[in-house]
Amino acid sequence: MTLDVAVIGGGISGLATACELRQRGYRVTVLERQACAGGKAQSERIGRYLMEHGPSAVAGGSAVASAWSGALGLDAQRLNLGAGVRRRYLLANGTVVGIPTHAFGFLVRRYLSVPGRLRMLAEVLPTWGKSRAGESVTAFFQRRFGREFLERVIEPLVGGMFAGDPDRMAMHAAYPALVGMERRHGSVIRGLIHSRLRGGRMPARRLYSWREGVGALPRALALRLGPCLRTGVTVRAIRHRGQGGFRVDTAGDGYLDASAVVIAAPAHAAAGLLEHLSPAAAEAAGLIEAPPLAVVFLGYRRSQIEHPLDGIGCLNPRTEGRVLSGVLFSSTMFEGRAPDAQIALTGYVGGARAPELARLPGRDLIAAVQSELAELLGIAGPPLLARSCHWPYGLPQYNLGHEARIAALRAAEASLPGLFVTGNYFHGLAVGSCLEQAARAAGRVHDFLAERSRSMPYCTRAQEVAAAPC
Ligand SMILES: Cc1cc2nc3c(=O)[nH]c(=O)nc-3n(C[C@H](O)[C@H](O)[C@H](O)COP(=O)(O)OP(=O)(O)OC[C@H]3O[C@@H](n4cnc5c(N)ncnc54)[C@H](O)[C@@H]3O)c2cc1C
Repeated sequence: MTLDVAVIGGGISGLATACELRQRGYRVTVLERQACAGGKAQSERIGRYLMEHGPSAVAGGSAVASAWSGALGLDAQRLNLGAGVRRRYLLANGTVVGIPTHAFGFLVRRYLSVPGRLRMLAEVLPTWGKSRAGESVTAFFQRRFGREFLERVIEPLVGGMFAGDPDRMAMHAAYPALVGMERRHGSVIRGLIHSRLRGGRMPARRLYSWREGVGALPRALALRLGPCLRTGVTVRAIRHRGQGGFRVDTAGDGYLDASAVVIAAPAHAAAGLLEHLSPAAAEAAGLIEAPPLAVVFLGYRRSQIEHPLDGIGCLNPRTEGRVLSGVLFSSTMFEGRAPDAQIALTGYVGGARAPELARLPGRDLIAAVQSELAELLGIAGPPLLARSCHWPYGLPQYNLGHEARIAALRAAEASLPGLFVTGNYFHGLAVGSCLEQAARAAGRVHDFLAERSRSMPYCTRAQEVAAAPC
């Protein structure tokens, strides 16, 4: 039997694409290599702690994410950011400094020097020019806000969001919204004020999750897919069969024939799968780096810690020379992350800044993070619980040349009708962005299948098979 669509990869991108296509009545099968779907979005209950191996929160600005939360019946379990979140913290000369979470928190705190703050404010002046394609994140922020803001604010932020190196990251690919503000308003600050006046809230204030963590989302998507999701199946190769669609070969589980294929695996895996279909696209995907990233989860009694933990967490600028790029105060962010009178912290190590550190054995990593946090947050004694998680391929880097790589992938789609590629390396790596891209991918697949069934009326129309299980 020829399926309508084979989706390769059962992370959030693949699961959401498949669910959208199922809703439109197509016969879909998702093939996921791991025993459990969800990809990076894995939440683990350990006693009454909840460890997030991957994403800890979803940005409230994503309408698609909110729609999925409602449609999957997850709204009753939805958790907004805890009332204890009052500040963001940054490390400065070995001291954890609290900054109000409002838009202009950096102006009212002495985290930046007076000249640094004045230079930051001067961003509103019409003298800093306009961004050109190929500008790095470093070049953009240094041009508009000055060196101090770049090093003390942007570099740690980029380390926290992308595990990235701003010197190598492409501004237009990583932060298109800020480039748009510069273009429309002549200034990022003016753009932010404009957005606030229209009711926009600071992104940090709108984060949310669910009682059982972000992993609740892929679990619910997987449940909805039922037998259309096959886990423990590794796709080894995809072959194009002309008008007959595609043959998807698995490692030891036979093959599937499908009219369309959606590759929703990470870039390095997509590179291997594209090899025989489009060498140029395979090369482009292979050039998208995803340096290793490690997550360390620690639980303590509240009484062991001096710091009030009244924020989302703390980011460490590279200039501080720390093992951790940042730590989340997980039990302050959301309730139910630690037992009563205990707290949970989640530390991040590695990424583009220090990939070698993410390869440390778990025990060494935990020891290094534990001793760093003991010094920074005033922690007495060992943790009650310590776990680490290693991602050999962490977050995709939107580095210089990224747009050309994405163009090569889109060109492969155009030259091979029925081939689609989606995932967190296209237009944003946040959960909400993955869901938005999945919706777009599902729309493109639908257009292709609808057109195909018009031009090849002997093919089964999707609407006629809506009742089929997969
Ligand atoms: C440590 C960490 C923290 C993060 N924090 C946040 C956060 O707080 N908020 C946020 O919004 N985002 C966060 N993210 C980003 C977000 O989690 C990811 O971008 C998103 O989950 C990626 O989903 P995906 O489906 O595109 O890819 P993945 O989750 O990587 O899924 C791809 C799937 O493809 C499968 N696969 C690969 N090769 C094959 C093959 N040959 N055959 C079959 N299956 C295959 C893999 O096993 C995997 O399940 C974080 C990510 C990490 C790693």
